[in-house]
Amino acid sequence: MATIQSLLDSADLPDSPTAQLDAELLLAHALGKSRSYLRTWPEREPDATQQAAFTAMLARRRSGEPVAYILGHQGFWSLELEVAPHTLIPRPDTELLVETALQLAPATPLQVLDLGTGSGAIALALASERGGWKVTGVDRIAEAVELAERNRQRLGLSNADFRLSSWFASLAGERFGLIVSNPPYIAASDRHLGEGDVRFEPQSALVAGADGLDDIRQIVSQAPQHLQPGGWLLLEHGYDQAEAVRELLRAAGFHMTESRRDLGGHERISLGQWPA
Ligand code: GLN
Repeated sequence: MATIQSLLDSADLPDSPTAQLDAELLLAHALGKSRSYLRTWPEREPDATQQAAFTAMLARRRSGEPVAYILGHQGFWSLELEVAPHTLIPRPDTELLVETALQLAPATPLQVLDLGTGSGAIALALASERGGWKVTGVDRIAEAVELAERNRQRLGLSNADFRLSSWFASLAGERFGLIVSNPPYIAASDRHLGEGDVRFEPQSALVAGADGLDDIRQIVSQAPQHLQPGGWLLLEHGYDQAEAVRELLRAAGFHMTESRRDLGGHERISLGQWPA
């Protein structure tokens, strides 16, 4: 019989940069337990059904599928979110966007918009931190809106709502004190699209034209019609796009433009304030 320890030791994930962690997450999921359970009971012997489930999940991971899609959930900020292949898997780097929004915008009641919300990660993190904010998340993909709404309900956050809209298309006449977005920003020719976990993520959430800036250009040009005086726009972008995004913001009339660095030291978000 195989023990928890022997199953982990023999899990073969040669192409994963996080093989040990992946194996633990998948086995814990097959057992319906936490990772600490594996450490506490290494001698226990999972039953045949559990072992078969683990073997099947390992095969999916070996073929490159991201762990988050296999498990069906991913941690972001302080929240556990359901994820699905129609949306991007929330990244730790994107927590910088949440952190910066919380620093800049007043904690007083505020209308907030998250463009291209996907799983709802950014919108729900903001809603969970600021009970006085009313956070609207929009996405142009119906499955994403449904997923974000399921996440909202499961987390019990009543100050967020999700709607179908391609960027600002369904938001005519509405204004916000804070607009955030992690839009697609990868250039169509970028070779990273053919490597690792992103191969399994939707191109619609990743790719934005020849230079990766098509969606950011659209958002920056339309945001002024949807910001209250003194409102902030915060955008995540690629590691080499900060200067271009700051320039787009300045050219559109934003003040206080600046960029902030992610955990890897790259300028990962840029922001500006609409004049009061
Ligand atoms: N940061 C993501 C990546 O490089 C891309 C996210 C996005 O395009 N919004 O995989």
